[in-house]
Amino acid sequence: MKGYKITKPFTLNEVEINEEIPSSAQAKVKVSKALITLSDVLRFRGELECDEIVLGSSGIGLVSEAETNLFGLEKGKRVYIDPTKTCEECYNCKKGNYNKCSNPLSAGEDYDGFIRDFVATAPDKLFTLPNSVSDIDSLYIDYISRGIAIFDKMNIQKGDYVAVLGANNFGNIFSQLLIYYQAVPIIMTLDEENLQIAKDSGIYYALGPNDNWQKEVLAITSGRLPDKVVFISDSNISPSKAFALAGQSTQVAFTGLFHKSANISFLPAVKKQLDILCINSGFGNTATSINLIANKAIDFSHLKLGGTKYTNVLDAFNTLSEQYEKEGKIYETIVEMI
Ligand SMILES: [Zn+2]
Repeated sequence: MKGYKITKPFTLNEVEINEEIPSSAQAKVKVSKALITLSDVLRFRGELECDEIVLGSSGIGLVSEAETNLFGLEKGKRVYIDPTKTCEECYNCKKGNYNKCSNPLSAGEDYDGFIRDFVATAPDKLFTLPNSVSDIDSLYIDYISRGIAIFDKMNIQKGDYVAVLGANNFGNIFSQLLIYYQAVPIIMTLDEENLQIAKDSGIYYALGPNDNWQKEVLAITSGRLPDKVVFISDSNISPSKAFALAGQSTQVAFTGLFHKSANISFLPAVKKQLDILCINSGFGNTATSINLIANKAIDFSHLKLGGTKYTNVLDAFNTLSEQYEKEGKIYETIVEMI
């Protein structure tokens, strides 16, 4: 098995990978597509700390070898490879309550991601993809899973106004998920292109760089202010905006796909007695997410995506890194592995 590991900033080396075998019952998957996200690009640039790991935050593939009786995972099946795993170290893991792991790990971040030819894994990390779920759509499963985690943790109800600060692909997908569950997202972005994509995706309340967010949000909610505020950390919006838009005792969630440090004063949060939550994993929600895609809950067609071949991965990272420098954002990019 081989893949591209980051060895130091701006350097990817194709290396042999010796996968730790998690259990005797395992399957081997030929990775067909992997996704490069902003988190990968920031690791490439050395702006986020990481070990020498394979980048690539999401991946799908075809089962190439499986032991017999692995619950329908026969050779050639198209599968999504769950990009999260349990830490095996926390109190809940040690008690055997793996589904309540308090520190789930993410692929391409805490352990090897998917820009590699094969993945060997326990079968419970593999999810068969229905024909109605396309390869490209399935690369967004982790975003939906994270969205569901936010939904659950904030206990969002039908009719709730939810301010979503940040309209990258993740913010967009999360807002569509809110609409699907009959909540009312108010998405805000400083990026004109993402604003248009949000509108095209059917997110009705979409505010851009030229809008007065405070005033507009008051008007949309008839003066009630949002019931919940969700701050997507990958946006260029100041985190203090999240506190400014929240009313007294409102829940404010900080989430996103990377953890760039930002300075923030907690004084407004303390004054308003805000309820602050942090969400960093969609662990355990993969099956639900696949079902949501199969039910056409999300329209991915307007989202911007780039593409590259496995052999051109280094060029693709350099181009994305330049885009990030110029525009402060990237177009997530699919790596065709086969
Ligand atoms: Zn754990």
